[in-house]
Amino acid sequence: MEKIVILTGAGISAESGLGTFRDEDGLWAQHRIEDVATPEGFARNPELVHAFYNARRVQAAAAKPNPAHTALARLQRHWPSEVVIVTQNVDSLHEAAGAERVIHMHGSLAGALCAVCDHRWQAPTEMQSGQPCPVCQVAAGRPDVVWFGEMPYFMDEIFDHLDSTDIFAAIGTSGQVYPAAGFVQGARRAGAATVEINLDPSDGASAFDQVVTGPATSTVPSWVENLLAKAR
Ligand code: NAD
Repeated sequence: MEKIVILTGAGISAESGLGTFRDEDGLWAQHRIEDVATPEGFARNPELVHAFYNARRVQAAAAKPNPAHTALARLQRHWPSEVVIVTQNVDSLHEAAGAERVIHMHGSLAGALCAVCDHRWQAPTEMQSGQPCPVCQVAAGRPDVVWFGEMPYFMDEIFDHLDSTDIFAAIGTSGQVYPAAGFVQGARRAGAATVEINLDPSDGASAFDQVVTGPATSTVPSWVENLLAKAR
């Protein structure tokens, strides 16, 4: 049976109340990316960056998974072959919906990272500037999220999955942030069937064999049901 690799972005969590990257009234819109999502911004003003991620952590903790997250968890449980979920999201809504194997390529709000020794631990709801690392004791705690200019996590593993996949789906992502935006090309090289599932066609939609538009809470459950019906 066919292997499936799914890439998700902020759009899959939009109907759970978490703002996407480019929402006009979202948290992201109230701050410049350079100030809150780069290592330079953190070095300049760690208090601002912690306040930004603390607010996002509180918001994400209150959010509930929606039918799109639940459908993907169901696909992972019932599809007779491997289903790999790769997410750009830093929330934990896939896991909250019951998904088991989720690759967080941009890290997670749930994690803290020592910028000096790379030790990772569970982030408290409120991280403070100068938070000491529990291992090396240096005051270098930061959110374990990948900022612009940093290398996303698990890239070798993700490209291995793309090389061996039969189906690739990109869900709720604008395809403007690399390297994730290039995954469709990797999957095509492997001969995979590709589908974009998004509110509207993204700028990169022409790279996909199929484009499904509409809100993720209706498009994703239908896509999953069609796949599972074929597998029965
Ligand atoms: P993006 O904001 O650039 O794009 C979101 C895409 O989702 C858009 O194409 C939009 O049309 C689509 N969309 C919006 N509502 C939708 C819905 N209801 N159903 C289906 N699609 C919908 O987000 P991105 O491509 O994920 O890249 C932005 C970066 O921002 C990521 O790296 C991510 O780490 C970060 N981010 C994460 C979260 C989160 O964890 N929930 C939220 C915002 C931003």
